This record gives sequence, structure tokens and C-alpha cells, in this order.
Amino acid sequence: MPAPDAKTLSSKQNPAPLLDGMTAREFFEQGTGYTYDDFILLPGHIDFAADEVSLETQISRRIKLKTPLVSSPMDTVTEGEMAISMALQGGMGIIHYNNAIEEQRDEVLKVKRFKNGFITNPLTLSPTHTIRDIDNVKSLLNFSGVPITETGKMGSKLLGIVTNRDIDFVQDRDLPLSEVMTRELVVAREGCTLEEANQILRESKKGKLPIVNANYEIVALISRNDLKKNRDYPLASKDAVDKRLLAGAAIGTREEDKERLAALVEAGLDLVVLDSSQGDSFYQLRMIEFIKNNYEHLEVIGGNIVTVNQARNLIQAGVDGLRIGMGVGSICTTQEVMACGRPQATAVYKTAQYAQEFGVPIIADGGISTIGHIIKALSLGASTVMMGSMLAGTEEAPGEYFYQDGTRLKKYRGMGSLEAMKKGSAKRYFSEGDKIRVAQGVAGAVVDKGSIHRFLPYLVQGVKHGLQDLGNRSVKDLHTALYNGTLGFELRTHAAQVEGGVHNLHSYEKTFM
Ligand code: NAD
Ligand code: IMP
Repeated sequence: MPAPDAKTLSSKQNPAPLLDGMTAREFFEQGTGYTYDDFILLPGHIDFAADEVSLETQISRRIKLKTPLVSSPMDTVTEGEMAISMALQGGMGIIHYNNAIEEQRDEVLKVKRFKNGFITNPLTLSPTHTIRDIDNVKSLLNFSGVPITETGKMGSKLLGIVTNRDIDFVQDRDLPLSEVMTRELVVAREGCTLEEANQILRESKKGKLPIVNANYEIVALISRNDLKKNRDYPLASKDAVDKRLLAGAAIGTREEDKERLAALVEAGLDLVVLDSSQGDSFYQLRMIEFIKNNYEHLEVIGGNIVTVNQARNLIQAGVDGLRIGMGVGSICTTQEVMACGRPQATAVYKTAQYAQEFGVPIIADGGISTIGHIIKALSLGASTVMMGSMLAGTEEAPGEYFYQDGTRLKKYRGMGSLEAMKKGSAKRYFSEGDKIRVAQGVAGAVVDKGSIHRFLPYLVQGVKHGLQDLGNRSVKDLHTALYNGTLGFELRTHAAQVEGGVHNLHSYEKTFM
């Protein structure tokens, strides 16, 4: 007799779900505020492989993502490089605004201008820099060739290139680069394809190929080494029209943010996040109205909020997505200082249940420190998950690594920390006669997590395994199970939480990859 296939087996063994555990509605109607660690999800039945799980989702009404992961608009988490890497992996990065308008615009431009294999922000120097300047950066960068431009910056006229061959045996390290640079250059014109550039590199046997525009100003660089490493990103988040990577950015709700937004839209912004710890304000409602009246194509995420009433107000104002979380971030002191907020699991469930009736997706923001938390956030109705501390230690996050007690770390700070406020938001805080600043966050450090291009696939694979254990093939199926009551929830007592973690060992090492 032939062996029954998985479907036949499944329907024989699992005719109808038996009641066990609580439905989400029963669990969250008890009146207690719960967070991710307070509950556990009951496993379902597996009749498919983990690789078959689809994590396709919506970050907003009109924007679909293949990976439900988003990086937070914080100045130690998301600038252009992070946003590019998040988008290449199928998620999205939201660029912070703790900087000048032009600086934020340039980070958005990096994302919109990104072309796989083209380096759009290489180190460039001027002819008056010296060989010693190159020696100084060599220890930090993987140096093999530096373009020399009139002003020493990108977008300026290309004059030459300095490679190891030009400077290796020069005794006088104070010689200006104008005396050693190679002036006869092989270049490619802006608009050439990666294949064409590859061909030129192969034929010329050069290590670096500058890309110039009609005025001979450098706009990008291609490196032979990078070409070898180049790979495809089948999940990449791209806009539907011209297939450029999706760019998201945050702004505030002040008058001057309208000028900022205009510059970002001009640079090609796809989605804007209105960034506030308490999003249900008339400032935010006015800003949503302004954006909806002036930028019809732009997706607007409102927040942060944690209650159904707040959700109703922002949905009525016309938001395309909601960002949920108040006082739950790893660097956050809001609940201590403001006595306001909500445990994150309850906040996500309540707002998602309400917003789904209007087709408005939820971003669960903050408090994520394990893959399990990501799975729980999605199980509570979130469509995407926003992370700060999880991503802050990656290579693509802004800032340099440093060592403390032998551990490689990167700085990570709250945007409401005194340190961050002093850096960029000072104008905002000083201009309103508000002389005393009350911090709602701290500055600290997180451990090195390697590259996003290894870390995100690891998180994604973990989430797929979680959904498989729950018996759900997709985020959509998971949400169906949540709302039809077939997804089982159970409270974890303190003892259950201890049992569910590593215990009773003399010692152990927790490596995550
Ligand atoms: P915010 O800009 O929303 O608020 C700062 C102050 O400015 C508030 O008093 C607000 O009412 C006021 N304000 C806003 N728009 C105004 C306008 N047009 N005119 C006059 N006053 C106006 O920023 P925030 O809530 O202090 O947050 C600062 C940063 O810290 C953000 O990046 C935020 O995400 C982060 N943060 C997040 C949380 C959280 O729990 N998610 C908590 C604290 C801080
Ligand atoms: P994490 O992923 O737990 O580190 O939380 C990141 C989230 O914390 C961000 O996306 C913000 O919503 C929030 N946040 C950022 N800065 C601050 C702050 O200074 N105080 C409180 N919350 C903050």
C-alpha cells in the first residue's frame, strides 16, 4: 500500500482543533497588561517544511515587504548603509532625523541611488592631501585605491587615483597626492550597467573603476574585489515603478519638519514615519493632514501609540500604518519618568485587532531581544517588527566599534537620551523656551553582531521555524489563526519562565550564530 501523503495524514490525524489553552481574545480580555515574556504560544500541527513559510507582509497600506523586519529611526541604528542592507534583505530601514536636513536627504539619496555593485560613497581625497593621510585611513579601511577629486569630495571633478603601487616605496610620506597619483584613468560613464563595468574592469585589469558623469565628476566607484563578492538579493524591497530600493525616513511634527519632508520627497522618499513617543497629539494629526493633502503618493506611519483610542484618532486622520510601543525600548526610561506606556504584547494585540478592521498594518516597535519576540509580535497581529538594539551592533549601523573588557561593542543610545538631544535635537528643545530637558532614554553599548547580510537571514530562518512549529505557512495564515481563535495562548508563571530558559547548568555559553 502506498504511504499516505502529508495532506491525507494531516486531515486524518488532525480533524478539528481541540480546545486547549486560551484564544488571544480570552487571554487579553483579562485586564492585565502582558509583555512578550508573559505568555507562550502553543504549537500547532506541521505538514510543511520551514523553507515553505512565506514572511511576505505589509509595512503600510500600499507597501509590501518580503521580510517583516524594520530598523529603527535612531542615530546609532539607521542611516543610508543600514537602510540599503535592510532593503536588500527584504525589510526596510527608517533613516533618523537627528541631523541637518541636507544630511538626512543625502542618506535617502544613497538608498534611492543604490545600484548593486556600485559604491556611491567611497573615500575620496584632494590633490593637496598627503601620502600620510592615506596611511592614516589605511588601518581603518580596506584600502586599495582612492580617487582624487578637485575638492576631495564625491560629485567633484575626478583628477586621478592613488593605489598601493603609487605610494608603497615612497620615502617622503608628506608628499602631496598630486605628485604620486595616476592621472591616466580608465573610467566608465554614468548609466553603464554592472555587466558593462565588469567587462571594462576585466579588459583594463584595473582594481578600481570610477564612474563619472558628463562633467567628469565622480558619481560612484566599482571595485574588482566587490564584484567577486557580488550576489543577488531576490527578496529586495523595491518600488513598483522604477525598481529602486525602498527608502523610509522619520521626521518630527514641527513646522520646520515640513521643509525637511519636502527635501526627502525630492530625494525619492517612499514612506515617512512621524516620530514621537506619544503620537496621539494635535501636532501629529495636523501633520498627517498636511502630508495627505500635499504628497498623495507618500505612505505615512503614525505613532507611537499603544491604545485603541489613539489608533482610532490616527486612522481617522488617514495614516497608512501605525507604530506601536511606548516605554518598552531597551534604552527607554519613559515608563519610569512619564508614568505612561503599556506592556508591549497587550499594546500590539489591542491596536492590531482594531486597526485590521481598517486594513491598517501595525509595526511592533521596541522590546525585541530574541527571535521568539519577533514571532510573538507577529502572532499578536503585527505585520512588521521594528528593532533598535538588535541591529545597533551590526557593521551597517552608524559608528565605530570599540573594545571594553575584551568585548567588541558599538554605541547605542535612545533618541530621548540627553546625549542624543544635545547632538541634534537641541534646536527643537531649546527653541520653545523649554530650558529644562527631561531625558526619556539612556546611552549605552551593544555587542558586535557582524553584518546585516548574515544576521537578517539568521533571524528570518528562525522566524520561519517558529511559524512552522505553530503550524502556519505564512504571516497571513498566522493572523487568520489569531483572529479565528485557533492560535493557543498560555500565561507563563515565573517558574514557567525559569523552566523555559537555560537552567540548572554550572556554566554555558550562549552563541547566537
Ligand atoms: P516629540 O517631538 O514628539 O515631542 C517633544 C515635545 O515637543 C513634546 O512635548 C511634544 O508635545 C512637543 N511638540 C511636538 N510637536 C510640536 C509642535 N508642532 N509644536 C510645539 N510642540 C510640539 O518627541 P519625543 O516624544 O520627546 O521623542 C523624542 C525621540 O525619542 C523620538 O525619536 C522618539 O521615538 C523617542 N522616544 C520614543 C519613546 C517610545 O516609547 N517609543 C519614548 C521616548 C522617546
Ligand atoms: P529596542 O529595539 O528595544 O532597542 O527599542 C527601540 C525603540 O525604542 C525605538 O524604535 C523607539 O521607539 C524607542 N526609543 C528610541 N529612543 C528612545 C528613548 O530615548 N527613550 C525611549 N524610547 C526610545
